[in-house]
Amino acid sequence: MIDHRKLGRELDLFVSDPLAGAGLPIWLPAGAAARHAVEEYVRELERRSGHQHVYSPPLGKRELFELSGHLGYFADDMFPPMRLSADDEFVLRPALCPHHALVFRARGRSYRELPLRIAELGGMYRSERSGVLGGLSRVRAISLNDAHTFCAPDQVGEEVVEILGLIRAAHAALGVRPAGFRLSLRGPGEKYVGDDAQWARAEELLRAALAGVAYVEAPGEAAFYGPKIDIQIVDAAGRESTISTIQLDFDKPERFDLSYTDSDGSRRRPVMVHRSLVGSMERLFAYLIEVHEGAFPAWYAPVQLVLLPVDDGQAGAAADLARRAVDAGLRVEVDVAGSLGARVRDAARRRVPYLGVLGAREAAEGAVSLRLRNGRTLPQMPAPAALTLLSEQVAARAHDPLPPA
Ligand SMILES: [Zn+2]
Repeated sequence: MIDHRKLGRELDLFVSDPLAGAGLPIWLPAGAAARHAVEEYVRELERRSGHQHVYSPPLGKRELFELSGHLGYFADDMFPPMRLSADDEFVLRPALCPHHALVFRARGRSYRELPLRIAELGGMYRSERSGVLGGLSRVRAISLNDAHTFCAPDQVGEEVVEILGLIRAAHAALGVRPAGFRLSLRGPGEKYVGDDAQWARAEELLRAALAGVAYVEAPGEAAFYGPKIDIQIVDAAGRESTISTIQLDFDKPERFDLSYTDSDGSRRRPVMVHRSLVGSMERLFAYLIEVHEGAFPAWYAPVQLVLLPVDDGQAGAAADLARRAVDAGLRVEVDVAGSLGARVRDAARRRVPYLGVLGAREAAEGAVSLRLRNGRTLPQMPAPAALTLLSEQVAARAHDPLPPA
């Protein structure tokens, strides 16, 4: 069976070292390269859709998380506070929302700024029990693709619909195939904040945004502060988890006393929409490694092109082409060690999308012969044409190695 932990080891994507601690994986250069490409894509998608990015620290004073409600409702999932002195305690944050509420509150806000979309790929922590941890799918240190939209009440519906569109775009680019949509509602016996009217209003808004979408209802799966739309994936072992989420929150704006000046000069309370397009980088990659069986689309493959000089005579030409490929923005390696057959097999094992073979004829003519990951070989072509082909496929975030014929 496909298992991202096994593939992660074979492809040198990440390592889980017991000395670092369970649920605290380390991203190796290949995994980090792929993650960088994905992060850049997501940041650009967000920038184009009106998000503003911030940085905030992954820990904060105890009082911040008392105010947010996390210590009251979510403490079981948090690491214990760290005491520096009797009146100075810090906690590792379990969510980014409290910091983003402070971003909104950093100065006076006008209705003209709404919807205000604050985004961050930020660190947060969950004190998962060691028994449930595994690879990247369940971790204690989480890098979340997160954003909070502060909007006027009558903007919520449109905002949710727009976020659903962004989620679909991100899924298509990455190759995420959702297993289903879920409307997560309150359940019995859990702790929730807010009154019934708020919950009913939020639920109604989410149902309206889901018009025309097939979804299931999941009582008991809501956040403690509001209902949410969850987009589910199923991993290779058949386990279901949430990859994307949109959550409505009328509570945190109250707790943080957030307000904006409306067009008539009155003070109004914004609604907070929490959303993640692709979830945490850890869970996303656990899924992507399995769904692509390690063969990522070229745009986020750790190494996009391996150049193979047939013998020492072409080493100079290969090094020169590699420099030009790096300048063109590609991730490239030159492999000179061992027989050509062994090097081709090694690149195939590493799921490298493009191989460039340089024999005496290619080197003499300034050309290269491309081999694709599926084993197909292309006729020899001028090296600049090969670099253009690869750059265009990467820029288009194509899933196929070649443009449509
Ligand atoms: Zn949040």
